[in-house]
Amino acid sequence: MLRRAQEAGVGAVLSIGIGEGPAEMHRARDLCRQYNGKPGMPRLYASAGIYPHSTTEADHAALVNLDQLLSDPDVIACGEIGLDYFHQGAPHDVQRDGLIRQLEVAAARKRPILIHCRPKDGACDAWDDLFAVLEEHWAKTALGGVMHCFGGEWEQARRSLDLGFLISFAGNLTYPKAQPLRDVAARVPLDSVLVETDAPWLAPAANRGKRNEPAMVVETARVLSELLCETEEEIAAATTRNFYRLFPGISPDGGE
Ligand SMILES: [Zn+2]
Repeated sequence: MLRRAQEAGVGAVLSIGIGEGPAEMHRARDLCRQYNGKPGMPRLYASAGIYPHSTTEADHAALVNLDQLLSDPDVIACGEIGLDYFHQGAPHDVQRDGLIRQLEVAAARKRPILIHCRPKDGACDAWDDLFAVLEEHWAKTALGGVMHCFGGEWEQARRSLDLGFLISFAGNLTYPKAQPLRDVAARVPLDSVLVETDAPWLAPAANRGKRNEPAMVVETARVLSELLCETEEEIAAATTRNFYRLFPGISPDGGE
């Protein structure tokens, strides 16, 4: 899978370390240790974080573990963290408290955050609560982050950009019914976009329903290039530039 990513032109992969709960947050870091340095593969980086519905397990020990993981040079981001009011799970106040605790850990380690935000259908509740938390607890750090698998409206995109966040699009950008999302994407500045998989979910249209993987972001990037009236090469260059601007401690030539 990593070789296919390299052949498709994917130079770096940020692998999400949420596991099935805090006890598995180290797994993306372990993938870095396993594969980095092997030829013919993209550079792997990892995140670590406690997913919204796992925040019932965000106790002191889990936060200490998170802090330790974020001290690893390969673990460059804290996430996916955020608020999910779509699925039944952790109560909203528990999610919010778990998010705030993790923002404190990430800020102390100077790690940007990867935000998962999913409101109830037709509502903005999770977004409104999220922006209130970020404005109070995160904006002052100026560390920024990524709105992962963005699915909001322009209002939420604008507020994210105001906070200095990158907006990351997954394969659902390519789906026939996603015209409202494409209309939002068309307004996002080139210097604020990323593409991602959300693997194993959301394979782009040509492979919809199959297991998603990094090589497939090429299709998402192609759709984004049409929306932004840029060449595919310019989207590739811009997403690379944007990624390394968010993480100033690392560089595309493989340095730390
Ligand atoms: Zn997510």
